[in-house]
Amino acid sequence: MSEQSHPEIREAVRKLCADFPGEYWRALDRDRTYPTEFVRTLTEAGFLSVLIPEEYGGSGLGLSAATAVLEEIHRSGCNGGACHAQMYTMGTILKHGSAEQKQRYLPKIATGEIRLQAFGVTEPTAGTDTTRISTFARRVGDRYIVNGQKIWISRAEHSDLMVLLCRTTAREDAARPADGMSVLLVDMREAVGNGLTIRPIRTMLNHATTELFFDNLEVPVENLVGEEGRGFRYILDGMNAERILIASECIGDGRFFIDRASAYAKERTVFGRAIGENQGIQFPIARNYVQLSAAALMVDHAAALFDAGQPCGTEANMAKMLASEASWAAADTCIQTHGGFGFAEEYDVERKFRETRLYQVAPISTNLILSHVGTHVLGMPKSF
Ligand SMILES: Cc1cc2nc3c(=O)[nH]c(=O)nc-3n(C[C@H](O)[C@H](O)[C@H](O)COP(=O)(O)OP(=O)(O)OC[C@H]3O[C@@H](n4cnc5c(N)ncnc54)[C@H](O)[C@@H]3O)c2cc1C
Repeated sequence: MSEQSHPEIREAVRKLCADFPGEYWRALDRDRTYPTEFVRTLTEAGFLSVLIPEEYGGSGLGLSAATAVLEEIHRSGCNGGACHAQMYTMGTILKHGSAEQKQRYLPKIATGEIRLQAFGVTEPTAGTDTTRISTFARRVGDRYIVNGQKIWISRAEHSDLMVLLCRTTAREDAARPADGMSVLLVDMREAVGNGLTIRPIRTMLNHATTELFFDNLEVPVENLVGEEGRGFRYILDGMNAERILIASECIGDGRFFIDRASAYAKERTVFGRAIGENQGIQFPIARNYVQLSAAALMVDHAAALFDAGQPCGTEANMAKMLASEASWAAADTCIQTHGGFGFAEEYDVERKFRETRLYQVAPISTNLILSHVGTHVLGMPKSF
């Protein structure tokens, strides 16, 4: 996105992030711990509630403002992955929840009193084929009884609520594969130890991701969002916001790498001259800048469509793909530019390199985006 958009927000986010320098993130990364202080500060400053309407205590801004927040967080060397879901997961309640659910949850999500950080979709056996999920919620009186398993559910240990996608009708009994899934709001504070077990997964980056096991977990029926059986559609709505916001994090990462690489190329002297004088060093950084600038325009475009209430599924996917590839290319160049120092923890380049790699896989992998474009946009035959 244009580096000029939302200048006051950008300036304020940069100022906040300056209090969370590389040392802070390195220590967390080493111990695989959650950035509690950073998330608290962002929450108190109101940056995680920009998408919540003013009537519920948020600032009622659009996705474009939210992309500016996340881009600046990432450009500063920080990481929004620990809390970005607090921004958009509430969209499922806002768009599809009852008036009572909105009143009960949104104001507290806006203040941070309730953390809605967990979004439970992926399952070990279904993978990207979401209609094959098998976590099942069976209605018994005024409760759902949930059994099954989820994997890669981020921030579950740091969330009070989870938006959970599960089956309420088996796939084979539903009219269409995408029917028969429902969204439940799970109160994690009551669930853990009472039918929900959370097991952390240690990964190559510090991401607080987990595996969840449901064993007769009881969820009150009033926690159903929208209509039973229509949950897949509700989740798809939220995914566009997620993809655009994560694309903006990639743009921020890319700018971080380009800032660092170009600064180092100017100051590092080898063979009696700055390494950046060599076109073998200079041109890849310039190319990364060109690629990232183009990706940023697509992120802007997708966010503008979203904010105008227009369909934006294809643009959200394309923005995420272009931005994640541009940030990864810039990460690779940045390591190469730093030579051996690129591998030293204290430069923060290797940490950001590991962090930005995730976004070609999650929240949707590149092949699935290409498949969407190939079949839905270009009308070629589907292979699966
Ligand atoms: C750190 C981390 C955090 C995450 N956080 C969350 C979260 O909070 N909530 C949540 O629900 N999920 C989360 N995920 C899951 C993430 O969305 C999935 O990992 C991702 O969508 C890919 O799904 P998969 O891992 O099941 O891969 P698979 O579906 O098993 O695919 C594996 C590979 O095969 C490719 N592939 C599959 N089918 C095809 C095909 N037909 N044609 C071509 N290529 C194909 C894919 O593109 C991919 O590269 C997270 C994942 C990670 C790693």
